[in-house]
Amino acid sequence: MTQSTPAIVILGQGSLATARRIQQVYPAAQIHGLAGRVEGADRTYQEFGATVRELYQQDTPIIALCAAGIVIRTLAPLLLEKGAEPPVLAVAEDGNAVVPLLGGLGGVNVMARDIAAGLQVAAAITTSGELRFGTCLLNPPSGYALGDLELGKRFVSDLLAGHSVRIEGAAPWLDQAQLPEDPQAQRSIHVGSAERVACANELLIYPRSVAVAISAEVADLPNVVRAALQQANLAVQALACLLAAETEMASTNLHEAAMELGVPLRFVSVLNDIEATALAAVPQAKVVIANDMAIAIAEQPLDVAQIGRARGRVAVIGLGPGAAELMVPAVKAELARATDVLGYETYVRMAGPFRDDQIQHCTDNREEMQRARHAFRLAAEGRSVIVVSSGDPGVFAMAAAVLEALHESDDPAWHSVDLEILPGVSASLATAAQAGAPLGHDFCVMSLSDNLKPWSIIEKRLDLAAEADLALAFYNPISRARPWQLGRALEIVAQHRTPQTPVVLGRDIGRPGQTLRTTTLGALTADQVDMRTMVLIGSSTTCTFPRATGGDWVYTPRWYGEKPIV
Ligand code: SAH
Repeated sequence: MTQSTPAIVILGQGSLATARRIQQVYPAAQIHGLAGRVEGADRTYQEFGATVRELYQQDTPIIALCAAGIVIRTLAPLLLEKGAEPPVLAVAEDGNAVVPLLGGLGGVNVMARDIAAGLQVAAAITTSGELRFGTCLLNPPSGYALGDLELGKRFVSDLLAGHSVRIEGAAPWLDQAQLPEDPQAQRSIHVGSAERVACANELLIYPRSVAVAISAEVADLPNVVRAALQQANLAVQALACLLAAETEMASTNLHEAAMELGVPLRFVSVLNDIEATALAAVPQAKVVIANDMAIAIAEQPLDVAQIGRARGRVAVIGLGPGAAELMVPAVKAELARATDVLGYETYVRMAGPFRDDQIQHCTDNREEMQRARHAFRLAAEGRSVIVVSSGDPGVFAMAAAVLEALHESDDPAWHSVDLEILPGVSASLATAAQAGAPLGHDFCVMSLSDNLKPWSIIEKRLDLAAEADLALAFYNPISRARPWQLGRALEIVAQHRTPQTPVVLGRDIGRPGQTLRTTTLGALTADQVDMRTMVLIGSSTTCTFPRATGGDWVYTPRWYGEKPIV
């Protein structure tokens, strides 16, 4: 089973030392500390319950340093839902107790033993089968699939009740187990790739040792593959991967088939006939032809990562303004799967920490097109690349550069890459939300940077947008190299707006040391703004009123002209 990186969740400063010791067992795991209570964690969170439930729903293994009861109460509402069941453990703050709570089939007991070994205590394993036999029979190692869970549970309880067992086939991981073995036993653990009828006396475990070569032209692929396996008397659970030609890499038909069958898709250069192709991809295998498909059957589980190569991927992601809570879950998942991370150093650092096996390629902020091409070169080799932007990648950021690089290229390998743009919360929206709703009606988003466009077009757009009475959001408002442009922009806006027009200045929103100020167009001067500031200028209807907690709320009503009577 491929285990994703666990999250270590702590509630108080006193747990940090234990959390760091657990981190030595899982170097890629991050420590999530409660904001205001924990200094020096890798990530902070605001609310324990919401955080733990979110991790659980994302199938992230959870190591919580707190009372088991707290974790149980927190997750209880989710337990009746079908869906993810990652390993969940409670560990005592002082590291003296390690209690596996959930995720028995996800390897929680293995984790408990590993953590306990790291903390030099004994794990509080309560699973009877595991205690008796020293292994969880229902959770075979990666490369093997259990036939049927419900039958399996009955099988284990039979063994617990005193029945003996024999092992048929190669089960190297059971060598260390303390099973009541007897060559004459009625009950058997059967390991093999052949299809077998499930029965109560047999625990079926399939080695994922079979690969099927497929073609994008074939309709209804999943069923055709299932039929081929059946014809060859192979269990569908023994399927380790599908093989396809490199030239068909972008075919949705292939990817949907792999998704439905729940196996990876690997690409190979095609030889004269399908049999030769399958054999070249899986040299140690025996190849049979069934239902017009070539099936490679190995003795051992296949190491899929060594077969052909994967389709490369470029994901252009938006981190949001900075705070982890404002990053969309799809981006978090993408950060975990990437092999390579490209971006301006500040943003790459913001996106981390990364595992040792993830390569960081930090570049200067100005080298956008070079970075975009680099991403495709890596992905064309089969790597899974992330291009990082702050906020949203489509707002004055990398997404357009990546698409431009692809548009300019006629390399089929670049066009075969799996390209996806994952959105983020843009600085204007994050700032607006903190101020209230200054962008609550029509608004216009502009970058004041004249690095990539002439200043004359900026002046023209400012003039027209201000005249059109749109609220305005200015990105890149000022920099050392562009000192006078903001002053000029404000002069143009002032020709169409009163000096009382509300202005919001958000600096480093969602990052440490963030500031939010409300002022007016008349009082705004360029020296109050720097390149880390978002400038929001209201329209003629934007208004403010005091908040009970101090400061002001700013909003632009939904209506325009006459206020509607509701
Ligand atoms: N793609 C980014 C914008 C990049 S342009 C996004 O969607 O947010 C960079 C400009 O965005 C900065 O000059 C600043 O004006 C604004 N900006 C980015 N992050 C910000 C933040 N956390 N707080 C305030 N402004 C920010």
